[in-house]
Amino acid sequence: MNLHFDTPLMESRALSVPGEQSIWLKLDALQPCGSFKIRGIGHACAVHQSRGAHRFVSSSGGNAGLAVAYAGRRLGIPVVVVVPETTTARAKELLGLEGAEVVVHGSSWQEANQYAQTLLGATDAFVHPFDDPLLWHGHASMIDEVAEAGLKPDAVVLSVGGGGLLCGVVEGLQRNHWRDVPVLAVETEGAASFHAAVEAGRTVELPRIASVATSLGAKRVCEQALHCAHAHPVRSLVVSDRSALAACERFLADHRILVEPACGAALSVAYDRHPALSEYKKVLVIVCGGATATIDQIRAWAEQPDCR
Ligand SMILES: *Cc1c(COP(=O)(O)O)cnc(C)c1O
Repeated sequence: MNLHFDTPLMESRALSVPGEQSIWLKLDALQPCGSFKIRGIGHACAVHQSRGAHRFVSSSGGNAGLAVAYAGRRLGIPVVVVVPETTTARAKELLGLEGAEVVVHGSSWQEANQYAQTLLGATDAFVHPFDDPLLWHGHASMIDEVAEAGLKPDAVVLSVGGGGLLCGVVEGLQRNHWRDVPVLAVETEGAASFHAAVEAGRTVELPRIASVATSLGAKRVCEQALHCAHAHPVRSLVVSDRSALAACERFLADHRILVEPACGAALSVAYDRHPALSEYKKVLVIVCGGATATIDQIRAWAEQPDCR
């Protein structure tokens, strides 16, 4: 049983330049829970269940936690999500709607995550938000769907947080024999842990996250993300929070879908006609989605005087 949907693949007239460049959208914002995460997390949870897990444990107050909560409900397995005190009421409400038990612990994700580890019993499965081959394997299904639809893009644009989406898309490109299709991996300035890793030639820990794109806020990417950058053509791009927020606003007007700044980051590369795109005629943008930001929040961020 698949817990995710096959999502629409459509050409965006608003983003394309007629006769020059077509921008295709893989609309994973339309997944249950509003992001691509259910692809990998749904797959991982189904595997854990087949191996005898009786409970799923997550430490994400964001889209990963939501996907675990959804997967648990669909599979009939209880879920506990440990979140830090900084988690918004909205996120806790969404987790509650999926029937998950929400435990608030600590002032940072690190503390919540450490506490979550202490809860793990022999028949519990911990579901990591990005660093797990089961996740990458599940995320890769989005590229299978693009191949089945008969579209071979000249480049793929996606956002990078901890790198799970990147690893999954690269796995999908390689298993469809598209080793020649480059990936443009986009982050916001205050959350550019992949960019830092590519520059340093090893994964590095950022001292802090300073971006409104909270779903990109992994201080360190997984080792496999850097490995992908060596095994496949991957180019790292960094955009401003301001560009990501403007893209959210424009995407809502153009396509009537509200996404988080984490997804706006990837969309902004197309909206702003980033020079890195100029050589490609057919570009696929992964619309990764995100359910944790309201339009009021996005506008409030954009109006902050120190928003960069
Ligand atoms: C998780 C997430 C990302 C980043 O994915 P990683 O696998 O952590 O790189 C991007 N956008 C949204 C909306 C997300 O939920």
